[in-house]
Amino acid sequence: MRIYTSCSDPIDFCKRCAPDEDEAQERYGNLGDGPDGRGNCFGYDDDHPPYGGENYTCAECGEELTDED
Ligand SMILES: [Zn+2]
Repeated sequence: MRIYTSCSDPIDFCKRCAPDEDEAQERYGNLGDGPDGRGNCFGYDDDHPPYGGENYTCAECGEELTDED
């Protein structure tokens, strides 16, 4: 799953490491605004490119992500 920080940086997590929404909000929801006057870009469980076969890794444990994540 993918979270966007309030500054619009994507962070990807495997299922085991994914924080719940409250925790994500606390950690990533108030880091500043996104570029181009977009304001707070925080997003929980947002759309992401397919992980399978690509080189996406979990931000927490570093495991390679699959389509399940
Ligand atoms: Zn992980």
